Amino acid sequence: MGSYMTWWQALARLGDFREHEPMAAHVTLGVGGAARWYFRPRDLHALSAALPRIPGEVAIMALGRGSNLLVADGGFDGVVIDMGSLDTLRVDGTAIHCGAGVRMSALAARCADLGLEGVEFMATVPGNIGGAVAMNAGAFGQQVSDILQSVDVVLRDGSLRTVAAEALAMGYRHSDLPPGALVVAARFGLRAGDADGIRARIRAMRNKRGGSQPLAQPNCGSVFKNPPQDHAARLIEAAGLKGHRIGGAEISAQHANFIVNHGDASSSDVLALIDLARSEVERRFGVVLEPELRVVGR
Ligand SMILES: Cc1cc2nc3c(=O)[nH]c(=O)nc-3n(C[C@H](O)[C@H](O)[C@H](O)COP(=O)(O)OP(=O)(O)OC[C@H]3O[C@@H](n4cnc5c(N)ncnc54)[C@H](O)[C@@H]3O)c2cc1C
Repeated sequence: MGSYMTWWQALARLGDFREHEPMAAHVTLGVGGAARWYFRPRDLHALSAALPRIPGEVAIMALGRGSNLLVADGGFDGVVIDMGSLDTLRVDGTAIHCGAGVRMSALAARCADLGLEGVEFMATVPGNIGGAVAMNAGAFGQQVSDILQSVDVVLRDGSLRTVAAEALAMGYRHSDLPPGALVVAARFGLRAGDADGIRARIRAMRNKRGGSQPLAQPNCGSVFKNPPQDHAARLIEAAGLKGHRIGGAEISAQHANFIVNHGDASSSDVLALIDLARSEVERRFGVVLEPELRVVGR
């Protein structure tokens, strides 16, 4: 590629590149401003080639399935990098090497078919593997750090590195990725099990979920982390906010740690509800709720 090319012309040759891309279409809550630039590399090679072309002062952010993400109405002033095309999956005995763009539910289903257990909890979480690692996603008493062996990351200079899971200091909905690192793949260590038994456990988890969460409306899963020995939903409900509405957003009448979009919500509506829940819970119970939802932009 000639050096006369601008960085965005270079990226346009390496994948799907757009300007002023509305992020509402890329996050499960269905709200949010635009990304100044949006880039979906064709493959890992294209991603590695693209990253060093982006000027150092331009912010970048990885996008998975947008199931834990809110972009403020003023937008994100940088490049959103959609990792969805990195969807390879390799099985090596009881170890799985899985691209960042694979859906968690697809990995759970594939492992069930292979009779590999340990990843069932992913069946009910709507994110991709990259987001799952970044968030240390978990459900039903299991989390990514229980099975993660290592991650492959690409750094801002385009180089690839494998990082052992122990180096990520993973905690409750937290992992310490190296600064600027994008997860491109993860390696999981699973156990041999019985395919029918695994499928039955996944069905049971799905049934449990459907009854307790407002899954028919756009949402982003749990808005707050649970404080030690308590539940954010209990505290928000006790503060009298269940069903409370601002604009088109509502603290779900079904589950108080969910915010749902009635169709015409803005990010500002959602952020106002988050502020209200935090301040009311702190005022009444002295507990400071920490958001699980990642909020970016202006
Ligand atoms: C209905 C519903 C139920 C949910 N239930 C659960 C649950 O039970 N347990 C749970 O833990 N979560 C749950 N979530 C939240 C969400 O699904 C998880 O946090 C998931 O791991 C996010 O993955 P994602 O691909 O959507 O990430 P995104 O929302 O796209 O991104 C989340 C964060 O991860 C970063 N990120 C994404 N991909 C990469 C990458 N490749 N490299 C580096 N950083 C990256 C993003 O920059 C962002 O900061 C739920 C969400 C919904 C909507």
